[in-house]
Amino acid sequence: MTRQKSNVVYIKNPKEMRVNRRLVHHPLIAMRNAVYALFFVVCISCIVDNGVAQEPDVHFIDADGKTIAEVPAQLKDETVYLSIDAVKQVFDPAMTYQYNHPRKRLTLRMKGKQLRLQMDKPTINIDPGGEIVTLSAPPVIIGQQPMVPIGFFTQLLPLFNDVEVIYNPSLRRIQMRPKGAWMPTETAGPQNWAIIIDPGHGGVDDTGCQASTGLLEKDVVLALAKQIQQLNKPREMQVYLTRQTDTKKTHFERIQVANRNQGRLFLSLHCNASFSPHEKGIKIYLNNPKGQLRFPSTIGQAPAGQRLKILAQANFLKQSRDFAADLQTELNFLTEIPVTITELPLIALSEIYMPGVVLELGYLSNAEDLEQLSNPEYITSVAQAVTRAIQRYISSANQSLLPTASEQ
Ligand SMILES: [Zn+2]
Repeated sequence: MTRQKSNVVYIKNPKEMRVNRRLVHHPLIAMRNAVYALFFVVCISCIVDNGVAQEPDVHFIDADGKTIAEVPAQLKDETVYLSIDAVKQVFDPAMTYQYNHPRKRLTLRMKGKQLRLQMDKPTINIDPGGEIVTLSAPPVIIGQQPMVPIGFFTQLLPLFNDVEVIYNPSLRRIQMRPKGAWMPTETAGPQNWAIIIDPGHGGVDDTGCQASTGLLEKDVVLALAKQIQQLNKPREMQVYLTRQTDTKKTHFERIQVANRNQGRLFLSLHCNASFSPHEKGIKIYLNNPKGQLRFPSTIGQAPAGQRLKILAQANFLKQSRDFAADLQTELNFLTEIPVTITELPLIALSEIYMPGVVLELGYLSNAEDLEQLSNPEYITSVAQAVTRAIQRYISSANQSLLPTASEQ
């Protein structure tokens, strides 16, 4: 969100107003440099001579983002490798294995199956049944121990543990979720669900935030909105965008799209910018008239009618909170720093008579966020996470619509 016309709340963080202090010479700086040098030496010594490097741990997490297992990893030939012990932890605590050193053959027994692997060969024979699975990288010996590539987990977990697997390579996270979870149930079919995605800004006059590279907020959010719409097509949910192209839309026109299509969920997409280049991360905002803010003076004097409209949107506060929590859970999978939820009196979401949230995708003023937001693959993973959050939300909302036992 950036500066917007007077009918929209303008969030400003006082921390962003700090002035950079000039660097001064100080004896502590010499000490700091020594610490950096030491750190550098430690890093170098972590890299083993045969091109194998100690990697950050791999985290296996459940559908709610809780860690199931955290296992050490090694990197070889740009592939992440995990130990056999990790297989035991993640697949089956009762797993047993044998390794034949001279023949370089590894046999794993788990869940009533026998898996035969050969070091440096990417195929796995699974018996009984004779199924053959080809991994994208072969198992290898590291430090005299057989190790399996990360693909062993991403490819075989769906077969053996009946879960869907999502892998985030940059953060080394593998999420396991029950298969087919959060699909909309029959009672209120997906066709009854109109979802409104609102890519902020648009047109020549209203570009939103601009990055040093020239990347514009209006383009980032439109690309994401279109992907969300695309991803939801096979699910037969109706996803409406408040703008399909790079055009200017008034707040009123956006509301019209939402209310005319009887949307049941409204998601407004924005990017952030800050005076501080360190400010970063995804933020979720929802409209709560009693939230912590700080009105700009013009809104403090809003006519009584306008204040009533803000209150009407507050009828959806619980659902908005539920959806915000679903989004937070899904997006946390993508980010190193936790996604925050803030409740504010947001006029951007007023007059929208449905649950709604504003999703700020990151700071175009921060180098790391900018790199992510400039990467089409990252945008796709955000679109997938938002889609999963929508499914999760609809599924639980439908559950709450089911008649209870006493009503039947
Ligand atoms: Zn914006």
